[in-house]
Amino acid sequence: MTDTIFGKIIRREIPADIVYEDDLALAFRDVNPQAPTHILIIPKKPIVRLSESSQADTALMGHLLMTVKKVAEQENLSNGYRVVINNGTHGGQTVDHLHLHLLGDRFMGWPPG
Ligand code: AMP
Repeated sequence: MTDTIFGKIIRREIPADIVYEDDLALAFRDVNPQAPTHILIIPKKPIVRLSESSQADTALMGHLLMTVKKVAEQENLSNGYRVVINNGTHGGQTVDHLHLHLLGDRFMGWPPG
């Protein structure tokens, strides 16, 4: 099992601004926000990255997306928002624990950098 800074947040070994939690998922504010609202949604299961998930994670993946929707409603992101998963080196992933970025409260350009 890999351990990362997000594992430490799950176990409350380091502080985080947690905005949502249930049995399977945790959501907390990004420490280096790229938008006025920037929240990370993570599984409690230590999946390293999307490409290392398995068929057994199908329901969990759906749960994470529905958690994004729930947190976006909680944060009143009624003008829309962006959901990002950085996967691996070319994806720009820096923490080896799967996470979904929820970005909102500003207009998002396209294409992404
Ligand atoms: P990524 O580059 O997709 O792997 O995203 C990792 C994100 O984790 C970055 O946006 C970081 O700012 C964020 N991050 C790293 N450490 C922490 C922390 N202790 N609390 C909250 N967010 C963090």
